[in-house]
Amino acid sequence: MKPASFEYVAPATVPEALHLLADDTVDSKVLAGGQSLIPLMNLRLAAPERLIDINNLRDLAYIRDDINGLHIGAMTRHTDVLASTSVRQMTPLLHEAAGFVAHSQVRNRGTLGGTLAHADAAAEIPVALLASNAVITARSIEGERQISVEDFFQGYFSTTLRADELIVDVFLPAMPPHGGSAFNEFSRRRGDYAIGGAAVVLVFDDQGICESARVALLAAGPQPVRAPASEGLLVGHRLDGELILAAAKAAASSANPVTSIHGSAEYRRAVIEEMVARGLREATQRAGV
Ligand SMILES: Cc1cc2nc3c(=O)[nH]c(=O)nc-3n(C[C@H](O)[C@H](O)[C@H](O)COP(=O)(O)OP(=O)(O)OC[C@H]3O[C@@H](n4cnc5c(N)ncnc54)[C@H](O)[C@@H]3O)c2cc1C
Repeated sequence: MKPASFEYVAPATVPEALHLLADDTVDSKVLAGGQSLIPLMNLRLAAPERLIDINNLRDLAYIRDDINGLHIGAMTRHTDVLASTSVRQMTPLLHEAAGFVAHSQVRNRGTLGGTLAHADAAAEIPVALLASNAVITARSIEGERQISVEDFFQGYFSTTLRADELIVDVFLPAMPPHGGSAFNEFSRRRGDYAIGGAAVVLVFDDQGICESARVALLAAGPQPVRAPASEGLLVGHRLDGELILAAAKAAASSANPVTSIHGSAEYRRAVIEEMVARGLREATQRAGV
């Protein structure tokens, strides 16, 4: 199918894009990589009156080291995230997650801002950002605001972003010393959306006791979610095989996956349990404890 007709504008600057977004007399959508929006428009599941193409906004495509972490611009393509040495060294979880996103054709176009705003619970990068405690900067003509990733996702393909706001930047804290992370997912074919998965970030003290744990689940409900029951079992303890299995079970019990042609909810929960267990083992090993 072809999309319904729409007006197309391609602003040259961020302020120009923000003024277009602020016009609430027209139902507008931002076009970034188009890898989610265009299929939705072709299927007539989305029919915006106006597309605001932000591909000319080159100043939103960057990866910058900060003393405490990395700033990544909203128009940074998945391919560039994957190729970045800074991402690999400072935020290895994002690097690992980006490697699971689709195929190179999609990664060459898809953007960090696009995958966040689309907010698919089965998309790897939002789950990795949730486990990483990322901070999103959204801008409108009224100014900027920082949104913790914890407060960003709001149900099925839905976020707290306002219609007049553009995601401009994402900040990811660097992995601290004695920290380790892992991203695991299971899909029938490499590059497909996963049946289930998990992103794990663990930080240990000098004695090898878990100081903080963030476990985020992929395809485990309507939105990217953390597993606080699982995290609570880990903090304050040295991780051994038995505790890891208990934490993985707790994560799976808190998951709320849907039954689909790709697998029943029960099967998906079993996959999530295994992915959390693998992630906890790998993150512990990578932390060097
Ligand atoms: C065949 C195929 C397979 C795929 N497989 C996977 C996969 O395995 N895993 C995965 O995670 N993804 C997958 N994707 C989706 C891909 O990762 C997309 O890149 C991503 O979901 C959306 O990014 P985009 O830049 O293309 O956004 P677009 O499609 O351009 O936009 C998506 C939404 O975000 C909004 N938006 C975009 N940028 C901004 C911004 N800066 N501020 C505010 N709103 C914004 C748009 O208005 C729209 O609502 C797949 C896509 C295809 C076509």
